[in-house]
Amino acid sequence: LAKEKGRHRIAVFDDALRQRTVARSKMDQALRYAVERNELFLMYQPKVSLQTGKLCGFEALMRWRSAQGLISPVEFIPLAEESGTIIQLGHWALRAACRQLRQWQNDYPALDDLTVAVNVSVRQLFQDGFVESVQAIIDEFGIYPSALELEITESAAMSNPAQAVRLLSDLKRSGVRIALDDFGTGYSSLAHLQKLPIDVLKIDRAFVNGLGERRENAEIAKLVIALAKTLNLETVAEGVETTDDMRALQKLQADIAQGYLFSRPMSVNEAEQQLRIGSPYLV
Ligand code: C2E
Ligand code: MG
Ligand code: MG
Ligand code: MG
Repeated sequence: LAKEKGRHRIAVFDDALRQRTVARSKMDQALRYAVERNELFLMYQPKVSLQTGKLCGFEALMRWRSAQGLISPVEFIPLAEESGTIIQLGHWALRAACRQLRQWQNDYPALDDLTVAVNVSVRQLFQDGFVESVQAIIDEFGIYPSALELEITESAAMSNPAQAVRLLSDLKRSGVRIALDDFGTGYSSLAHLQKLPIDVLKIDRAFVNGLGERRENAEIAKLVIALAKTLNLETVAEGVETTDDMRALQKLQADIAQGYLFSRPMSVNEAEQQLRIGSPYLV
């Protein structure tokens, strides 16, 4: 009987696993067509100077309006990374963001230091011809390359530090800026960090949320900001949700903040309204 039961349990487990695998491969297939079907779009989250409250740029964040409704990148990006579909999605995002940046550079010439940040996955970065494709997109839209920031996660860069140093150096030659995303959640060796040709450290929101209240977070954020200053990097704090978090970051002299306190990711229309109004955020 016990044996029977055991076998049954395995069958149930198998079934659940199979269903999950089928669902994932269906989603991946749908994702492959998402680009041609125009189901992807970008939202833009403001980045705000902690000194002046001025909008300094946006991070472009991908959204998927699928037949099943709106799907979060937290769900589809890991899947696309696993299957390789991220190569197409990432290329689409980069072109869409650069086209938008070109338009903003035309329409708001006074805001000549506005930046747009685009997330780049590790598969994309390490893909043959990636550096050339970035250069081709810059040329296609004729953007100032220094207005384009590419965000690579710390764990992606550290998955193959030597190759990351090579590729990021090549990328930098085209004039783009590089940000290390989700910093503090990967496993950086300080020796590798020092060699990476990056411009910006983005402190992961795990250390930013509750900064005002939690002592350990404040201590970690302090260390990260000090490290960034030593390496001459700009600091961006992600996930700033409260005035307390913001005040604590100002005290630690972080440069830029991003988070729900200022704004959730915006549609293009909302972003343009913000660009037109131009009034600073309250800091
Ligand atoms: P990320 O690059 O670290 O982006 C920041 C995420 O934090 C975004 O989630 C943003 O909406 C969210 N966020 C911003 N402020 C706050 C806040 O105050 N509180 C909280 N709780 N969250 C905040 P989103 O848009 O869901 O994106 C999740 C992740 O998906 C991104 O994390 C990035 O890793 C990935 N992703 C998004 N778009 C792309 C893309 O075009 N390409 C690639 N490769 N990855 C992308
Ligand atoms: Mg990012
Ligand atoms: Mg991040
Ligand atoms: Mg993140």
